[in-house]
Amino acid sequence: MPTLLVKNSVCLVTMDDRQRDVAGGGLFIRDGFIEQVGPTGELPQTADEVLDLSGHLLLPGLVNTHHHFYQTLTRAVPAVQDANLFNWLKTLYPIWARLTPADIFISTQTALAELALSGCTTASDHLYLFPNGSRLDDEIAAAKETGLRIHASRGSMSLGESQGGLPPDSVVDTEAKILADSQRLIETYHDPHPGAFVQIVLAPCSPFSVTGELMKQSAALARQYGVHLHTHLAETEDEEQFCLQKFGYRPVPYMQSVDWLGQDVWFAHAVYVSNEEVKAFAGHGCGVAHCPTSNMRLASGIAPVKEYLAAGVKVGLGVDGSASNDGSHMLAEARQAMLVARAKEGLTGFSLSNDPSRKLMTAREALRLATRGGADVLGRTDIGSLEPGKCADFFALDLNRLDYAGALHDPVAAALFCQPGRADYTVVGGKFVVRESRLVTLDERKLVEQHNKAAKRLLNGLPVA
Ligand SMILES: [Zn+2]
Repeated sequence: MPTLLVKNSVCLVTMDDRQRDVAGGGLFIRDGFIEQVGPTGELPQTADEVLDLSGHLLLPGLVNTHHHFYQTLTRAVPAVQDANLFNWLKTLYPIWARLTPADIFISTQTALAELALSGCTTASDHLYLFPNGSRLDDEIAAAKETGLRIHASRGSMSLGESQGGLPPDSVVDTEAKILADSQRLIETYHDPHPGAFVQIVLAPCSPFSVTGELMKQSAALARQYGVHLHTHLAETEDEEQFCLQKFGYRPVPYMQSVDWLGQDVWFAHAVYVSNEEVKAFAGHGCGVAHCPTSNMRLASGIAPVKEYLAAGVKVGLGVDGSASNDGSHMLAEARQAMLVARAKEGLTGFSLSNDPSRKLMTAREALRLATRGGADVLGRTDIGSLEPGKCADFFALDLNRLDYAGALHDPVAAALFCQPGRADYTVVGGKFVVRESRLVTLDERKLVEQHNKAAKRLLNGLPVA
């Protein structure tokens, strides 16, 4: 039962229900879980390992609720730098059709390395194409080496172009194959216990790439095993038009028609929703993965986060796939969420309003979305805050960095308002993944070299070496 004592932080942010911050706080960790939280003087004085965080801010590990790790291979692709969602997808599908198992492996490690260096300790990924023998197993094996927790979503596409869907027929699968593989993955990997490092999620890709029948069958299978459901929804206006024309419903009522409103479901984006649909999410307990950078990058729009939170909808943050961000920095995503929420207020007359009830999203609210919000969305009660009994997942920022100079009146707000860089320490389940801003579990230089080689081959359409 190894122990870790973390001590002397400038401030420990618990993110507990009382939103307590502990000056001079620390943690006593045993066997991957937090045993004690409090001022350093009240903690045991020795442990198998001691981390002195003098001069550092100590925060709960960030939780990323939406990503496509493989897209780190297709960032900033010239042909789609300025495209909208549907054109972006149609151009990228044929490139992604060349992905191999080795590409899935290397891109998973790249994305998780970036996430870890940005303070993230748990990430959900959505892998929805499996060309050339690729499997979700490739991602899970790669993630295991990094030391982060993952919610690996078994994505799928079954509605090809010939049936009125968006993706080419070459990247869609039969429903029988998708469901059999989903069941195999749940039975092989899903861990429902506290402290789980791998959970499986069933995630048909979107209304425009999957049949209603597969949506229904996936929901039934997920509920049989108690795993969560995830998909893209209401991301853009052309998706809304597609749903109206193809199914006769707006996206949210369409989801209701295929048994997809429930507390075991979370949707990525959910930008185009009516007030009634916000209420429906709240009433059914659905979660939302808010992906502000991606929504700005593809000019999709701005999700109504304020309305979601007011209605009691669970909201987490997602960096989204790296072809539409084009990065995996979770703390930067929290900052982006705070800033775009403010931009939205500006668009509706904030500067002219003297209404004191109109509030801007605060730094702490943005941080809460990135921690507790994400944990709620993923259905985890063992992560997202620093409290006794929870997983020992945290990160620390050196406040003496140039980035924070002049902002130490409020170190917690500084983490969000100032330009985020690398986390100094990231620890998952009591184990170091980042130490002094360097990856512990991976060789960064080698990873970048292999990744760039794979990206070049993928873009140029060369055969696998
Ligand atoms: Zn996505």
